[in-house]
Amino acid sequence: MHNTLKKVFGFQSFRPNQETIIRNILDKKDVFAVMPTGGGKSLCYQLPAKMMTGTTVVISPLISLMKDQVDAAIENGISAAFINSSLSTQEMSDIYHRLKNHTLELLYIAPERFAMQGFIETLKTIPLSLFAIDEAHCISEWGHDFRPDYLSLSGLTQTFPHIPVTAFTATATPRVQEDIINKIGLRSPYVIRASFNRQNLFYQVKSKIELESQILEFLKEHKDEPGIIYRTTRDSVFRLAEFLVDQGISALPYHAGLATEERKRNQEAFSRDKVTVIVATIAFGMGIDKSNVRFVIHADLPKNIEGYYQETGRSGRDGEPANCLLFFGRQDIPKIRYFIDQMPSENERSISMEKLNQTVKYASHNVCRRRQLLEYFGENYTNENCGACDICMGNVEKIDITTDAQIVMSAISRTGQHFGIRHIIDIVAGADTKRIRELQHNEIKTYGAGRHKEKKHWQFIINELLAQDAIVQDGGQYPVLILTKKGTDILYGKEKIEGLKREEIKKKPKAFKVSGFEPYDEVLFDRLRVLRKRLADEHRVPPYIIFSDMTLHEMCIYYPATLTDMKTISGVGDTKLERYGTDFTEEIKAHLDENPGISIPDRKPVTIPAGTLPKKVKVGTIEKTYDLFKEGLSIEEISKERNLAVSTITGHLENLIRNGRDIEIDRLVEPANRNTIEKLFLTLKTWNTGPVVEHSKGAVSYDEAKLVRAYVQRETNPA
Ligand code: ADP
Ligand code: MG
Ligand code: ZN
Repeated sequence: MHNTLKKVFGFQSFRPNQETIIRNILDKKDVFAVMPTGGGKSLCYQLPAKMMTGTTVVISPLISLMKDQVDAAIENGISAAFINSSLSTQEMSDIYHRLKNHTLELLYIAPERFAMQGFIETLKTIPLSLFAIDEAHCISEWGHDFRPDYLSLSGLTQTFPHIPVTAFTATATPRVQEDIINKIGLRSPYVIRASFNRQNLFYQVKSKIELESQILEFLKEHKDEPGIIYRTTRDSVFRLAEFLVDQGISALPYHAGLATEERKRNQEAFSRDKVTVIVATIAFGMGIDKSNVRFVIHADLPKNIEGYYQETGRSGRDGEPANCLLFFGRQDIPKIRYFIDQMPSENERSISMEKLNQTVKYASHNVCRRRQLLEYFGENYTNENCGACDICMGNVEKIDITTDAQIVMSAISRTGQHFGIRHIIDIVAGADTKRIRELQHNEIKTYGAGRHKEKKHWQFIINELLAQDAIVQDGGQYPVLILTKKGTDILYGKEKIEGLKREEIKKKPKAFKVSGFEPYDEVLFDRLRVLRKRLADEHRVPPYIIFSDMTLHEMCIYYPATLTDMKTISGVGDTKLERYGTDFTEEIKAHLDENPGISIPDRKPVTIPAGTLPKKVKVGTIEKTYDLFKEGLSIEEISKERNLAVSTITGHLENLIRNGRDIEIDRLVEPANRNTIEKLFLTLKTWNTGPVVEHSKGAVSYDEAKLVRAYVQRETNPA
């Protein structure tokens, strides 16, 4: 395996989970894997395709993507082809010929082909090694991208009982997961849910003040970096693209209103580095495998966190640092609310409202952005400082805000929980408005209690209270503030509350540096990038397929000027070495000759694989909890014994469950409760514990919900 990884793909080490997945495939087991975008799913089936005898069949939904993937495989020296409606009869019969001659290692197929008469019969006559279903969520009506064509894959395992089947996706709620496994008929699959943490992405939110000049400023700082700017409407896409072009930026628009031809052309121009920036609606995305997207800007507030995560996820697939910047202005909220109000079903409206509130919280809350995203997906992120978001990189200080919180909540409570943010701030700040006089809110006790502080401060307090669930916003177009149980406890002095006060990052780092990423020779990078583009045009493939940015960066650190040195660079496999090695070593040699002062560092013996997760908690402490649990102690007893908080012990147990250790869940959560919780996760279509606890009406606790969640998501290996 490692040998193939090096020789074919040129990589020194596997990304998280790749190795286990491949081992299972080689053992001929079915696999179901949820891995984030950029997690390296393709390699999980391309590597076995190279190692096993017979053809690996990959089912993939988009024609454009298929072609790029096949090109990429061929560049790595894998014999690959695709079958879809774009082929001529002649091309098609060539491929069948190669299949019959057993000379194809990898075959990409569009799903609808499986519904065509005779196709399956033909396939049965060919020695196959593996089926890999990419974007497997497309088979589920519960997923966000259901494609009826995928249904022709139902029961694939029955039609081909002796061939292992694997399914990959970057999104799957528990319900979608179950649906995929059932529809395809996977046989006790090895299930893996990878972490959704994308370590190389820097998350940042800025106030939207003068959008166009703010974007321009960003682009000037990130000259020549390819990136996507998302906007909500076609019109704003069009206008922003025009503005940028006027300012001398290489940019093109993309939205569903453009003619198919133009859309295709613009997408290809972006993917082949012919244009640097694409301004787009969210119609742009699926079908973009471009690995060197260096930033994603959201110029408007996204509708929900899932979308935001998927869209930002399109940057930095190559594992190199990338920026995700959101411009947040409260003026965007009513626009989205307007669309929500048009929804016919009450249920849909309230779900969408909740999702909107979550994005507002994400943008306005002073809590690590990465933590918020991961917790949204039900992951427990325990790092104090992620090192790659504006909050963690800012100057953050924890302050006790209990007194100010009480002032605000007292104003909310004394006015009967019937008013929105602005009015409550007016009361606290002692404003003299018509509304206050009419309602005689100048007579309540809290009126003006906070007049010595700025309104901005009270907005901050309310944001914190919302973000920490001490208060919630309720009601459609004019939401009012309501206290939760937690809020009431704070109001009556039973609980304290802390806020994070931060100073804006004063000096923006030019390119953010995360540990594990080294500075490189930027002049050489520009040279190599030009060379890559020229070779890509000659070979008619997207530049990132020749070498990824990660590979070029590494060349710009170690200056490989001979083929032997070139071979040690990550991403340079045998085929690419042969095809492009000399072009690149020559360019590097020329650069070294012209710059005699350059000193070349020794290659470090091991490269740190991108995306390796830092150890979250000391292993020893978890093991101690494990031992005590196995001795029969309850959570409370372990907590006493170890003098650690109950929540800490619960966290340890969650961790152990996730890692597939033998923790008897029934000892922690009553079977009936577990059932209720699992059902609630499914029906509420969320991995958040909040709504589950709320809907259970007190029947289950947060800790129970967390433990069950870990249990459902655990790395199962039923065999
Ligand atoms: P996904 O389909 O999961 O979104 P891809 O399969 O497109 O991700 O892979 C994303 C990028 O990661 C590609 O550029 C690929 O070459 C690179 N990659 C995959 N595995 C490794 C690895 N083990 N080491 C370094 N880079 C890798
Ligand atoms: Mg993929
Ligand atoms: Zn952070």
